[in-house]
Amino acid sequence: MGIDLDRVRAETPGCRSGVAHFNNAGSALPPQAVIDAVNDQFRLESTIGGYEAAEVSADAVERFYDAIAGLIGAGRDEIAYIENATRAWDMAFYAIPFRTGDRILTTTSEYASNAIAYIQIAAARGVSVEVVPDDEHGTISLEALEAELAKGGVRLVAINHIPTHNGLVNPAAEVGRLARAAGALYLLDACQSVGQLPVDVNEIGCDMLSATGRKFLRGPRGTGFLYVRRDVLPGLKPPFLDLLSAEWTGRESYELRDDARRFETWERYVAGQIGLGVAADYAVRLGLDAVHDRVGGLAARLREALAAKPGVTLLDRGAHRSGLVTFTLAGHESAAVKAALREHGVNVSTTDGSHQRFDAHAVPSAVRASPHYYNTEEEVERLVAALPSP
Ligand SMILES: *Cc1c(COP(=O)(O)O)cnc(C)c1O
Repeated sequence: MGIDLDRVRAETPGCRSGVAHFNNAGSALPPQAVIDAVNDQFRLESTIGGYEAAEVSADAVERFYDAIAGLIGAGRDEIAYIENATRAWDMAFYAIPFRTGDRILTTTSEYASNAIAYIQIAAARGVSVEVVPDDEHGTISLEALEAELAKGGVRLVAINHIPTHNGLVNPAAEVGRLARAAGALYLLDACQSVGQLPVDVNEIGCDMLSATGRKFLRGPRGTGFLYVRRDVLPGLKPPFLDLLSAEWTGRESYELRDDARRFETWERYVAGQIGLGVAADYAVRLGLDAVHDRVGGLAARLREALAAKPGVTLLDRGAHRSGLVTFTLAGHESAAVKAALREHGVNVSTTDGSHQRFDAHAVPSAVRASPHYYNTEEEVERLVAALPSP
C-alpha cells in the first residue's frame, strides 16, 4: 500500500502554510498527532505541575520505548531516550573501554561531530582512527573493510547509514556481517535513515544505533534515542551517570541499571519523549516501505528535473540513493540559491565542506533539497522553476 497523499497532507498543518518544505533532512514538519501530544503535555505541566503531569502521562512516557523498539525491531529494554542524536551516539561511543592500540574503522562520509570524537579519543587513549576507502559508487568499500578487519585489532566499526551532505546510502547490513565476523563492535549513525526507510537492527546487525527525532521521523526538536544490543550492554560503561542510570547502593558503591536506560538522565523533555513515541507510531502505521518508495520516487524526480536544468551539477553518489539531493548551481553560491528559493516559498538547506574533511569529493558548499513523503510533484517542479538562472 502506498502513501495516501491527501490524508498525510491534511494531517500536517505545515503543508497548509504555502511553503514547499524540502529541508526534511534538517527538520521535518510534524503531523498533528505529534503537535497535539507535545502541546497537551506542556499544557498539563503548566496547569497541574510538571511532576504531577508526568504521573498522569506515565503510560504515554512508557509507550515511547515500545514505539521505538517496534520501529527498529529491538526490545524495549534496548532503547534509551536521549535529547539528540549527537549525545545518543556519544553515550555509546564514550562508553567503549578502548585500550591503547585499538583500531576504529570509519567511512569517508562520516558526520563531523563523530569524526571530532574519534580524533579526541585517538589522542587521549592511543587508538588509531582509520578511514576505509570508498568503492566505485562512493559508499564504503566492503572489500577494503574486510581487508582492514582481517589485519586484527579493530575494536569498533562506526559508520553512518546515510550521510548528511550527500545522497548516498551505505551498505549497513553488509558492514554488519563483516564487523560481526571479525568480532568488532558496530555503531551505526542512523540519523538520516530512521523514518526514511526500513531500519531493522537485527537485519543490519549493529550493536548500537543512534537517531534523532526531528528529521525524517517528524518528531519534536530536542529529542533522540539510542539503541544498544542486550548482549553488548554489560561491557559498556556510560561516561556520565546519575540517579536514574545507576542506583546508589552504599557509602562507596553504586549499581548500573541493567537495561539501555543506563545511558539516560533522569531529567528530560517529557513532552518531547511522548511526542517522539507518537511520531514513531505514526511512521510505523504508514509503513516504512511505503515511505521509502515515495521519498525515493520524489528524490529521483527531483534529480531528473535538476539534471535538465542548465548549470546544475548533481553531487549524489552511491548505487542506492537516499532522499537527500545535493547539487551546485554554476555562478551562484549555495547560500544565495537557498535564499532565492526561500523568497519563492521553498525551503532547502546547504552543506558545509569544512564538516567533511575525510571526504575528498566534498565541495565547499552545496544545496541540499530533501523531500519527504508529504511533498508533492508540483512542489518539486516549483523548486526547480524557482532556481536562479545560471
Ligand atoms: C543530523 C545528524 C546528526 C546529529 O543529529 P542531532 O540530533 O543534531 O544531534 C548525526 N549524524 C548525521 C548523519 C546527521 O545527519
